[in-house]
Amino acid sequence: MKKSIFKEKMTKGITDMGLEFTNIPVDRLWVYTNLLISENKKYNLTAIVDYEEIINKHFLDSLGFFQLGSFRNEDYVIDVGTGPGFPGMVIKIFFPQISLVLLDANKKKVRFLQLLIEHLQVDNVEVIHGRAEDLADKSSYRERFDFVFSRAVAPLNILAEYTLPFARVKGQVQLYKGPDCQQEIEEGAGAVMTLGGIINNVKKIKIPSLTGERYIINIEKRKKTPVKYPRRAGIPKKRPL
Ligand code: SAM
Repeated sequence: MKKSIFKEKMTKGITDMGLEFTNIPVDRLWVYTNLLISENKKYNLTAIVDYEEIINKHFLDSLGFFQLGSFRNEDYVIDVGTGPGFPGMVIKIFFPQISLVLLDANKKKVRFLQLLIEHLQVDNVEVIHGRAEDLADKSSYRERFDFVFSRAVAPLNILAEYTLPFARVKGQVQLYKGPDCQQEIEEGAGAVMTLGGIINNVKKIKIPSLTGERYIINIEKRKKTPVKYPRRAGIPKKRPL
């Protein structure tokens, strides 16, 4: 795809989503796309490697958060299980003032993110290789974040234990979900409460260029997560709350 077509499709996609940005950072997104495609040929980063699909399924989908909220410049944000940077890195490119932590358990993806940061020259991004269950036990990360994001990592009853411990009291957890969202909520609402959160709302995200339903579950952290959570790495998945 030519860069001019890429720019047109990104711009139209954003407009069709009803979003307004004073500046669409096309150059950085273009670098991101090409690096993702070229590195993906060397090792598996994502199943989505076509330009059009990267625009719709990675970039526009990641921007869904802006249909329900925004940041203050000083906000501290973490993306849990970010893979090659979705949604966290896309959000950071559009809102560079935030301080961002990108966390993933997969070393290759973490290496890609480090390379991406060098190419994009973005500030205030920390990339961490590790598991959510281990990092959330460290006092410098536990209950520190204004926003916790996560997409395509686990069902809500497991994901709640990966994400809620990172949110400060009154902070927010934003979980990107597909069509099974309602059932996940039925099975996971109890886990959210146990971990100190409450589901504030579930927003259907409007992305006209994508088929399939997309939702963001918005959770508010009401009180501290009990110290026994998260349990040891692997236990939340083996024995969901
Ligand atoms: N969020 C990205 C996206 O939407 O494209 C990546 C999704 S990928 C299907 C799931 C990612 O979550 C993988 O990169 C995996 O390594 C990471 N992951 C799964 N469990 C994790 C955990 N407990 N702690 C940290 N990362 C985890």
